[in-house]
Amino acid sequence: MPEDCIFCQIVDGEIPSRSVYEDDQVMAFLDANPLAPGHTLVIPKEHHETLGDLPEDAGSRVFETLHRLAPEIEAAVDADASNVAFNNGEAAGQEVPHVHGHVIPRFEGDGGAPIHAIAG
Ligand code: 5GP
Repeated sequence: MPEDCIFCQIVDGEIPSRSVYEDDQVMAFLDANPLAPGHTLVIPKEHHETLGDLPEDAGSRVFETLHRLAPEIEAAVDADASNVAFNNGEAAGQEVPHVHGHVIPRFEGDGGAPIHAIAG
């Protein structure tokens, strides 16, 4: 793993995080700068930069976790919907070069803007 990868350091417990879910391959934790209450990041524990670098098995596990957690997170914060999205590569706005899916709870009346609008 690259020594300066923030998310690898979260996996190793060197940087604290607010855990939402963890198993042998995947971690989910609250985003440090949430766009909405309950904004959660889902990552493979192994370091891979983009979706294209991710082995199929790890990719499946990340998507299974997003599939299961998105409705649970919505329910936990009483949201009406959620954006589930990846910034996949630097030119697409990916700031942390370790694959991560965002679950961003959305609420009736929050403007209904698509993710690019709320992420500024
Ligand atoms: P990206 O723009 O790469 O798709 O999203 C990176 C996300 O990681 C951002 O939403 C940012 O707030 C979050 N983030 C960056 N550093 C940390 C950290 O140390 N801990 C947590 N929990 N989230 C972080």
